[in-house]
Amino acid sequence: MEFFYRELRRQHRVLMEGDEPAGGAWNFDAENREAFGKDGPDPLRSPPRRFPPDATTRQVLALVEDHFAKHPGALHDFDWPVTPTDAELALDDFLTHRLAEFGRWQDAMWTNEPWLFHSRLSAALNLKLLNPRRVIAAAEKAFRSGRVPLPAAEGFIRQILGWREYVRGIYWRHMPGYIGRNALGAQHALPDFYWTGETDMACLRDAIGQTWRYGYAHHIQRLMVTGLFALLWGAHPRRVHEWYLAAYVDAVEWVELPNTLGMSQYADGGLMASKPYIASGKYIQRMSNYCAGCRYDPAQRAGPRACPFTTLYWDFLLRHEALLAKNPRTVMQVRNAVRLTPSQRREITDHAARLRAAIPAAT
Ligand SMILES: Cc1cc2nc3c(=O)[nH]c(=O)nc-3n(C[C@H](O)[C@H](O)[C@H](O)COP(=O)(O)OP(=O)(O)OC[C@H]3O[C@@H](n4cnc5c(N)ncnc54)[C@H](O)[C@@H]3O)c2cc1C
Ligand code: SF4
Repeated sequence: MEFFYRELRRQHRVLMEGDEPAGGAWNFDAENREAFGKDGPDPLRSPPRRFPPDATTRQVLALVEDHFAKHPGALHDFDWPVTPTDAELALDDFLTHRLAEFGRWQDAMWTNEPWLFHSRLSAALNLKLLNPRRVIAAAEKAFRSGRVPLPAAEGFIRQILGWREYVRGIYWRHMPGYIGRNALGAQHALPDFYWTGETDMACLRDAIGQTWRYGYAHHIQRLMVTGLFALLWGAHPRRVHEWYLAAYVDAVEWVELPNTLGMSQYADGGLMASKPYIASGKYIQRMSNYCAGCRYDPAQRAGPRACPFTTLYWDFLLRHEALLAKNPRTVMQVRNAVRLTPSQRREITDHAARLRAAIPAAT
């Protein structure tokens, strides 16, 4: 993706100074991606602009209520931009109030804070209410006029010019076969709580709860909470794909599928991502306040308070030891598993098996 992105930057003259990238670097990730301190996000920041449903939207909401009353999800908080004019206002609101802090807090999560510093523009982009060129040009202009720092503008532009275009290429280049891939041979059903939000795991309860309330979760919630759990659980990638396609207001198969099958579930065997995105509960603890309000302990991998992410992370390492040992980006993680004694291995696999038996599957 990085080289593809650089090529598009050159080709479309985005954030360039002559032949060189603005600021002398292509990527400012090292200055981005912090976690909030214990006080959490600034309570005085502006909330995203809302778009109360107009008459047409209200009619559609009523229609959905009539026909799909039993489907998961709620309608009462619907406030998405649904016209090009609204979408333009949403873009302006993001550029004015959140872009400057976007990169810094891009990966951070906080209980009951669905939006943080994200743009909420994906649905408008995918529905063609907003042209991605327009969004990229507006973010660059905000940087050139001194309104936002370069790392923030570059981090945001990379998501659209880089990731969004890259996944589009993956989808159209590799479909229709892509959807059938299952490189890790994952066969489990998705846990039922994905459809109800009823779980005692605080991180999943928050991410899934806001998903069914707003149709939204930000990228790290999708990748490193719901996606990570499904990957460690060994859920069949087709079931995971069906869930993401059903759950999000921005879900359009060409964007959703490579993100789910490739980036999140590694079902394409590394075509999209250079390694499976695996982590224990400690990653979630570092990037959020979820664990502070959870009955589990992310540092424990077995026992009554063991965090299910941590147990399943170790179980995943053991199940895929040979594959992960061959990948230079995961070899260090496997080394920790290699050091486990036979009784430690048994303790992990037994606890993982108990978890699988205790968590009901979706029907
Ligand atoms: C498992 C999984 C499923 C996903 N499904 C979808 C989907 O169905 N539709 C969708 O638009 N995005 C999807 N994404 C990508 C990303 O999570 C969303 O685009 C983002 O969370 C939307 O929120 P936002 O508009 O506030 O984005 P911001 O964080 O503000 O990012 C800005 C914009 O960059 C683009 N973008 C960022 N990351 C990606 C990415 N990985 N791929 C493509 N575009 C990206 C989006 O257009 C987004 O609006 C998925 C990611 C994962 C891990
Ligand atoms: S302890 Fe584990 S399950 Fe609970 S919030 Fe933290 S990561 Fe999630």
